[in-house]
Amino acid sequence: MRIIFLGTGTSVGIPTIGCSCEVCTSSDPRDTRTRTGLLVEHQGQRIQIDISADFRQQMLRERIDRLDAVLITHAHADHILGLDDLRPFTFRQGEIPVHATAETWSRVERVFYYIFSPPSNYVGGGLPRIRREYIDGRFEVIGLQITPVTVIHGNMEVTAFRISDGRFEMAFITDCNLIPENSLRQLEGLDLLIIDALRYKPHSTHLHLEQTLAYIERLKPRRALLTHMGHNFKHAVTSSHLPTGVEMAWDGLQVELN
Ligand SMILES: [Zn+2]
Ligand SMILES: [Zn+2]
Ligand SMILES: [Zn+2]
Repeated sequence: MRIIFLGTGTSVGIPTIGCSCEVCTSSDPRDTRTRTGLLVEHQGQRIQIDISADFRQQMLRERIDRLDAVLITHAHADHILGLDDLRPFTFRQGEIPVHATAETWSRVERVFYYIFSPPSNYVGGGLPRIRREYIDGRFEVIGLQITPVTVIHGNMEVTAFRISDGRFEMAFITDCNLIPENSLRQLEGLDLLIIDALRYKPHSTHLHLEQTLAYIERLKPRRALLTHMGHNFKHAVTSSHLPTGVEMAWDGLQVELN
């Protein structure tokens, strides 16, 4: 199993429009963070997790020509607005299965009304061919076991994913400020944990660094990588004082689990 960090930034992206702070103007490429997205490859097939407005650029950057499934964590704009850009894939490949909870689907369907409820007299450009799959317990995609894990993001539930190829266990947790006790139990024994860390100061809907590190300390994965980061973290500075085994991810980072 191999993963590629497509984007590691918070909702506004780094650099942020109109911001001239040290991180937004940094020449270190690791300080440029497109909106959060992750690619998981296994035996020549690929799962895309979340699909932001930066999805198109991420696919071009990584020269991706085929996707076999998409997983969506929740329906905030920075995780779904690239859905329409599945079109070049579906024109070539046909229908792509997209997995989300019923709650997330009900929100995605409202945003992309023209895909999911096209008017009967619809004429015009091609629509992405999406097969709606409803997450309700463990499922299998491209030979990987996927366990959905519920985390809390302000007043909504977000789906985190534990992914196993039978030998290696990883989990992707974006956008949360709380991991309930029974969800923590589903996240034990990980080789790799990818987890939300927005900034240094507390935030109402995201983990801040101290909380993220406390969860990592509790779960004790072999390796932890931070994502969904804001412009308070300068890569060279923040990464230099993280505990052993904890690192900041960056756009384009690839990790081989073998
Ligand atoms: Zn987000
Ligand atoms: Zn900034
Ligand atoms: Zn969110």
